[in-house]
Amino acid sequence: MPKPVLLTVDDDPDVLRAVERDLRSRYADRYRILRASSGPEAMQTLQQLHSRNEAVALMLADQRMPDIDGVGFLAQATELFPAAKRALLTAYADTNAAIDAINEAKVHYFLMKPWDPPEENLYPALDDLLNDWADSYHPPYEGIRLLGTRWSSHAYDLRNFLARNHVPYQWVDVELNAADSATLALLKNSKGEEDQLPLIIFPDSTRLCDPSPAAIAQKIGLRTHSDVDFYDLAIIGGGPAGLAAAVYGASEGLKTVMVEREAPGGQAGLSSRIENYLGFPSGLSGQDLARRAVVQATRFGVEILAPQEAVGLRIEGPYRIIELADGSRISCHALLLATGVQWRSLGVPGEDRVRGAGVYYGGGLTEAISCKGEIVYVVGGANSAGQAAVHFANYAEKVVMLVRRESLAATMSQYLIDQIKKIPNIEVWPGTEIAEMHGHDHLEGISVRCAQTGSLDRYPAHSLFIYIGALPKTDWLGDFVERDERGFILSGPDLLRDGKRPQGWTADRDPNLLETSVPGVFVVGDVRHGSVKRVASGVGEGAVAVQLIHQYLAKVS
Ligand SMILES: Cc1cc2nc3c(=O)[nH]c(=O)nc-3n(C[C@H](O)[C@H](O)[C@H](O)COP(=O)(O)OP(=O)(O)OC[C@H]3O[C@@H](n4cnc5c(N)ncnc54)[C@H](O)[C@@H]3O)c2cc1C
Repeated sequence: MPKPVLLTVDDDPDVLRAVERDLRSRYADRYRILRASSGPEAMQTLQQLHSRNEAVALMLADQRMPDIDGVGFLAQATELFPAAKRALLTAYADTNAAIDAINEAKVHYFLMKPWDPPEENLYPALDDLLNDWADSYHPPYEGIRLLGTRWSSHAYDLRNFLARNHVPYQWVDVELNAADSATLALLKNSKGEEDQLPLIIFPDSTRLCDPSPAAIAQKIGLRTHSDVDFYDLAIIGGGPAGLAAAVYGASEGLKTVMVEREAPGGQAGLSSRIENYLGFPSGLSGQDLARRAVVQATRFGVEILAPQEAVGLRIEGPYRIIELADGSRISCHALLLATGVQWRSLGVPGEDRVRGAGVYYGGGLTEAISCKGEIVYVVGGANSAGQAAVHFANYAEKVVMLVRRESLAATMSQYLIDQIKKIPNIEVWPGTEIAEMHGHDHLEGISVRCAQTGSLDRYPAHSLFIYIGALPKTDWLGDFVERDERGFILSGPDLLRDGKRPQGWTADRDPNLLETSVPGVFVVGDVRHGSVKRVASGVGEGAVAVQLIHQYLAKVS
């Protein structure tokens, strides 16, 4: 963090030099001394300091300047640095103007020229002002700032991306802060023009307008390219199953790479509190689980490429070649598919218009704070919906759960049902479903149908979170890997039909447990046909798969 600034402004070069010299000799060890020879030049300096998020402790301006007088300059400068102390340098004849300035323009002090000796006529007053400033000074936020509007789906994606990759950042809602001069100044680039939103500003003042996650990843040093192009084991998907396999694989000596499209943690990373994972009696958040697993995997030497997406697969003899979204590729002997599932949308009229702008799928935890004091609607009756309702109840005035069935009992764990019953600001509306979403560029209302009566009621709504189940996205595997009609990947005994091995199977043995229709390509977690959709089962499968991969690698030539 650079030192706070003392800025002095005077059009008389001799006076300017003298003030600067005296300020330096007493304050240079704690403050950066800057000077300007006119009000406009000083304003330009202040704009730059502001855009770099630097602190200004004191502005000392001469009253008589040609472009703008000292009082006028200090009044303008206050807009940018309201907490900075303001002092006016005056000649004897200006005493009345100075007194008026203290009263009207909130100038903190006026100093008479000449100020010699400074030990008597300058430093005592400035020491006082600076001590005062230091007492109430809170260092400005130094990290990444993301500016945007609540209803922008791109801004929402970026917030999610940063949060899920554990990158600390400050969110600035430019609509909520539209009257704040500091926010307005941040929006302007060095040419004084307004930047396009969402805008991300890094601590070194670099600005990215409307950036892709990949551009941010590059800037903050997330790794999206591999160091080498051949691995013993490549894992696609960084949810609990992929992370577990990565930890076991690398700790047992396999050269391992993991490719993750969004952020390590997968769906589990969206969970506000996982209460049924062994060894954590008071539960832990999915983000916390993901962060710990990433540290563990990295410690064992796993290369994690994120954000990076696998988009194609080729098989060349014993080599499995994965094509990545940026056109690069990696090869391996054993490939593990751990790509999980993606959340489904409702498919009701109006949904496409408001997706990501008030309507969120399977997550939205970063939105919780924006929902303060609002009514939040949660759709779904399974554990994920229940957890979300409990989480949002901490922020929202009321949470309404829209559940298609008549009761939660068949779809939700009893501990969650009991928890929900005890929270006074959660209402469960059984036998209801959303028929339509209203709003042009963001959600403004929903129409809710009652299953029993068929009646349709419209409610104002700004926040709707949907948890209605998920499907795998496995088209990128082409015809190589056999899947069921819904896209889940078949493995082991599920591949044998009437005792016959799958078409194109090249090995002289049956597919192993967790092995797909291609020898050496394994599958674990939610994407596997017949899997138990739980964190613990994904982690268990990840560990088991590594044992089977060792057996496979022992024979591969
Ligand atoms: C809100 C919520 C709460 C939950 N709560 C619990 C709970 O309390 N207890 C419990 O046991 N389970 C819970 N679950 C379920 C649990 O999270 C999942 O069963 C588990 O995460 C599945 O792990 P996975 O590794 O198989 O897949 P996922 O977690 O789905 O991870 C798959 C990963 O693969 C990535 N990916 C997909 N395609 C590609 C590609 N082509 N290239 C690169 N990467 C790709 C995805 O981005 C994703 O990160 C919850 C789920 C949700 C959504």
